[in-house]
Amino acid sequence: MPRPLPRPVVAALPAYVPGARPSDDRAHKLSSNENPYPPLGPVQDVIAEAAGRVNRYPEMFADTLVAAIAQRHGVAAENVVASTGSVAVLGHVLQAFCEPGDQVVTAWRSFEAYPILVRLTGAEHVQVPLTSDARHDLAAMAAAVTERTKVLMVCTPNNPTGPVVHHDEMVELLATVPRDVLVVIDEAYVEFVTDPDAAQGGRLLADHANVVLLRTFSKAYGLAGLRVGYAVAHREVAAAVRTAATPFGVNELAQTAALASLDAAEALMDRVRDVVAERERVVAALRRQGWDVPDAQGNFVWLATAEHTTDLASRAAARGLLVRPFAGEGVRVSIGSPEANDAVLALTAEWAPID
Ligand SMILES: *Cc1c(COP(=O)(O)O)cnc(C)c1O
Repeated sequence: MPRPLPRPVVAALPAYVPGARPSDDRAHKLSSNENPYPPLGPVQDVIAEAAGRVNRYPEMFADTLVAAIAQRHGVAAENVVASTGSVAVLGHVLQAFCEPGDQVVTAWRSFEAYPILVRLTGAEHVQVPLTSDARHDLAAMAAAVTERTKVLMVCTPNNPTGPVVHHDEMVELLATVPRDVLVVIDEAYVEFVTDPDAAQGGRLLADHANVVLLRTFSKAYGLAGLRVGYAVAHREVAAAVRTAATPFGVNELAQTAALASLDAAEALMDRVRDVVAERERVVAALRRQGWDVPDAQGNFVWLATAEHTTDLASRAAARGLLVRPFAGEGVRVSIGSPEANDAVLALTAEWAPID
């Protein structure tokens, strides 16, 4: 029987594996790099109020939110495009710029959404291995650029390994890469960065018309469940991305909550500092235990457990610790409450890494 067939690439794509979800209340969910804190009271209040308005469409392009974001970045509203999480924004960027035959260069291992979003456009995903210390190899990435390269992506801090790229490295990369290649800098975890040499997206954007920054309210701002993220880019780039965006994509609750979260940014950044302090504590303890942990600049740590990955993940699950294994490579563990982090450290202390 004939039947409608999706494009062959659809069947060939890897599935995005969501972080495991707890089946009981005592489990610690450390598998999706979420913020361990619930939304602030005032943010919860505006979400509840907005519930009474959901018979209406929200603002089509989230104009009020976009204006507030633009002000924070010191750019014009026309430079900002919001959508349903920065994963969706990246999808719009790739849809607007890539077609079959084009190439997209990223580091690898990096964010697992990249291969799916890239290949859905028909473009080829060129994956450049990380260095031995789990960093982007920007020289190799620049060398991987060809006439067919349309987009080069930099994930800083890199999910799932943790290191950032440095500002001077990015300046050098941008001087090398042709100006018609879009350089997308995924800054999903930028609020957690403490390395003073880390790339400063805003400065790179100001100096280069081909730079796009991706930001999200899912991690530091703690709104993962509402799906809102955005791109900051030069006017023509932003206009193209907006064309590909889902109409009315950012829902009323998300727009309202994101606006309230920007107003409460100071209180939220206090919590980010707490998460960072916990990250520093966890990394130091892991290293004392003998683990070789790459520089951790996000809200997660990377344990390079290679062939022992599923073993560690299942031992963790048995103790109610849900982590994110990448079979054959390593385990990404989100920073959670101090109690959850202690439970992780108790496990890693016993589970001696194989050298
Ligand atoms: C979590 C994450 C995002 C953001 O995802 P949302 O769609 O905004 O929730 C983007 N990039 C990376 C690397 C991430 O880890």
